[in-house]
Amino acid sequence: MPVFRTTAFTFPGVHEMADAAAGRTERFIYSRYDNPTQHEAEDKLAALEEAGPGAGAVAFSSGMAAIAAALMSRLSAGEHLIAQRELYGGTTGLITRTLARLGIEITWLGASELIGPGLRSALLGAGRETTRAVLLETPANPTLRVVDLGGVSEVARARGWTVMVDNTFASPINQLPLALGADVVVHSATKYLAGHSDLTAGFVVASGDVLERLRELRIDLGGCLDPSVAWLLSRSMKTLALRVSAQNENAMAIARHLDGRAGVLRVHYPGLPAHPGHAVAARQMSGFGGMLSFELEKPDDASRVIGALRMIRLAPTLGGIDTTASLPAFSSHVKLTPEERRRDGIGEGLIRLSIGIEDSADILADLDQALG
Ligand SMILES: *Cc1c(COP(=O)(O)O)cnc(C)c1O
Repeated sequence: MPVFRTTAFTFPGVHEMADAAAGRTERFIYSRYDNPTQHEAEDKLAALEEAGPGAGAVAFSSGMAAIAAALMSRLSAGEHLIAQRELYGGTTGLITRTLARLGIEITWLGASELIGPGLRSALLGAGRETTRAVLLETPANPTLRVVDLGGVSEVARARGWTVMVDNTFASPINQLPLALGADVVVHSATKYLAGHSDLTAGFVVASGDVLERLRELRIDLGGCLDPSVAWLLSRSMKTLALRVSAQNENAMAIARHLDGRAGVLRVHYPGLPAHPGHAVAARQMSGFGGMLSFELEKPDDASRVIGALRMIRLAPTLGGIDTTASLPAFSSHVKLTPEERRRDGIGEGLIRLSIGIEDSADILADLDQALG
């Protein structure tokens, strides 16, 4: 697929241009509306998410542009959103700062309320006459909490609420939210889909009216994906399955190694049987993913451990082929109060790892020498 590095598309005559502008013919017009290279990336992601007939993907310039469009496609002033409390920090900021100013109302539910026997009453208790959508993220950052996608979708769909899932952490290789009953999938393609920490992009997968509205929103808000970036992203998605399967395997080996190791208090990884969401994860995921976090017995030691790492680098991102570390209490969750961090299990000694595709022995050796 070539890069269609063009702003606009030429027409043989005025009639053809008028027909295209009026939507009477399907023709590329202007790259903010649509571009063949962007189209290619969208078709790949739609296929990966197993979007059925009438469904499709819409590409955006970033994950946040995608999430903002997804929420705006369904919510207007005076309407209500139920959102999981453990969302990506940028998404929480979008909801509390920007969507609140547009008159969109919000009720938060913790991940522990969106799994198990209390799920139905928690959702129905949060619902209002004006509820339009439920926004979920599983596994969630940074403690890898799992919510029951099928269970939430069943309750929400019966009420006509649109279920939206941020599938960034799992990637479509490990989890297919549409098959579990969700209506909309969002991605920060910056992470696993791109996989090399070298581009910023996002996607929404949807169908029907929501899909139409998303295409309008991209035209209205202008968060379109650059054709060169779309081309790089398509190339990356060709190796997604290989990368994610190596990351799944490495993460499992590292979680098992750290679990019970001297100096490590607790490991959070949905693949470990002791993880509170393990049974649901085993049912709804085909791999447990490349993200894990662990708590040190001595929280004060966290910055020393991070500083002692040689191969693994400190970086506020995830999903790349290189293993990276972050300290959520000092980066993604620095703006929470200490009480909020305690409630969400984000201590100062919590280290998050995004596991790469290196030889797992190299990752283990680096962690072991740093932990001492
Ligand atoms: C990074 C991330 C986002 C935001 O994506 P950008 O591409 O940085 O805009 C949203 N959700 C999750 C889970 C993320 O990790």
